[in-house]
Amino acid sequence: MKKVLKNVSFIFLLLKMCFIFGQESATQKIIIIDVGHGGKDSGAIGINGIKEKDVVLNMAMEILRLNNHLEHPLEIYLTRSSDTLISLSDRTKLANSLKADLFVSLHCNHANNSEARGIEVYVPKETSQYARDAIWLAFEWQATFKEKLGFESRGVKFADFQVLRETNGQRPVVLLELGFLSNLDEHAYLSNNRSSIAIAQVILMTIMKY
Ligand SMILES: [Zn+2]
Repeated sequence: MKKVLKNVSFIFLLLKMCFIFGQESATQKIIIIDVGHGGKDSGAIGINGIKEKDVVLNMAMEILRLNNHLEHPLEIYLTRSSDTLISLSDRTKLANSLKADLFVSLHCNHANNSEARGIEVYVPKETSQYARDAIWLAFEWQATFKEKLGFESRGVKFADFQVLRETNGQRPVVLLELGFLSNLDEHAYLSNNRSSIAIAQVILMTIMKY
């Protein structure tokens, strides 16, 4: 059975929610959106040649664009805003120098099994004073991607990825694997610009609840 992922039907509701949450917060948190891969590192390659580095950059740019439409925008920084390769340690340095309150790394998944699908959310294996917040955000994202866009939840996982390890301990760190470029349905969904907008909204909305 083909599962249909949703994209634009809830946009207006979501933007409205963003306005409400935005108005509630007095001081804006500093958010780092870590845009995975870039330059010669394409990340995963999808069925039709679409590259993970481009898909996540589109999503990140949409997050910025949506944020700029809010009455009280968050302070959001991207680790890259073009097709360039940034080292993992430079991504960490940016978060530290800005004293970021939250670090969210954007990726897309790939598997040899073309049936694999859904959203995976990773938090650092090593615990810290921010572990609770990271885990809360991770479950919130899983639930919202499922509820709003129809993505399957593959669970919240604990990992020792370098980017999680190095940014951990000073802020909550979460890595999002936003669907499988190796799955026919999700690859088609992720190739559609309107879906990038929908995914960007879920990411932004959850950050605003934090
Ligand atoms: Zn990746």
